[in-house]
Amino acid sequence: MFNDPRRSGGVQQQRTLYEAKCVSCGAATKVPFEPTAERPVYCRDCYAVVRPVRKPRF
Ligand SMILES: [Zn+2]
Repeated sequence: MFNDPRRSGGVQQQRTLYEAKCVSCGAATKVPFEPTAERPVYCRDCYAVVRPVRKPRF
């Protein structure tokens, strides 16, 4: 059996990151998508706060 690492799922290194600026705190960050005006970019810290969270049901 031949197991070529280049063929078996080795495309993790090709992720393109775009440099962007967090709209919340202004910190430089990198995102895996092309930043546009329609899509606000947050750094990791702000994203953890801003991202939609489910309200707990009672
Ligand atoms: Zn931020």
